[in-house]
Amino acid sequence: MLIVASHNQGKVREIKALLGPHGIEPLSAAEMGLAEPAETGATFLANAELKARAAADAGKHPALADDSGLWVDALGGNPGIYSARWAGPAKDFRIAMARVEKELHEKKATDFSARFVCALCIAMPPHNGNIGEVKSFEGEVHGRLTFPPRGDQGFGYDPIFIPDGWEQTFGEIDPHVKNAMSHRARAFEKLLHSGILEESL
Ligand code: IMP
Repeated sequence: MLIVASHNQGKVREIKALLGPHGIEPLSAAEMGLAEPAETGATFLANAELKARAAADAGKHPALADDSGLWVDALGGNPGIYSARWAGPAKDFRIAMARVEKELHEKKATDFSARFVCALCIAMPPHNGNIGEVKSFEGEVHGRLTFPPRGDQGFGYDPIFIPDGWEQTFGEIDPHVKNAMSHRARAFEKLLHSGILEESL
């Protein structure tokens, strides 16, 4: 049995859809009644690891967590691990995208390079009193930002992100096409090829 260490229903749905074709039907941390740890890490990998570790320890089964966000070069990597928080309590990404534009403007930035990053971590439960093994995988999709936001197909920062080789934003690109090339898809590809999922079931 595999736990998806997330209380975010959208993320759980997406991860279940990615694992389903491989015959893996995980349970989410919320479905198991597990507590949600504070994301106190300084990196995507650290946050993915602390979520996976907490769920594996409490749920006593292997747990998979992901942490993702938008890295803007001219903003020193912000919003980065704070990507969700920049949208405020109402989770309004128009506010978050406006803040990115304002900060780029204040910095008089001319380089609009950015990337989406996804860190995936799988943690094994403790065994004979020993801490369980942890394996992590990262996926990225590189591109550039554009303003004003365009398209309503995706979520989060999709309407301001144009992946390399495209002229449309992730908000304009068909979601199936986006999901096949996204940072999350790339991290999952590495996880699936590692063989650790089969070992953990
Ligand atoms: P997490 O739940 O802490 O991993 O937060 C991830 C945040 O990063 C989301 O709330 C989005 O704002 C942003 N993000 C991650 N992946 C994407 C994506 O594919 N498109 C747009 N925004 C994304």
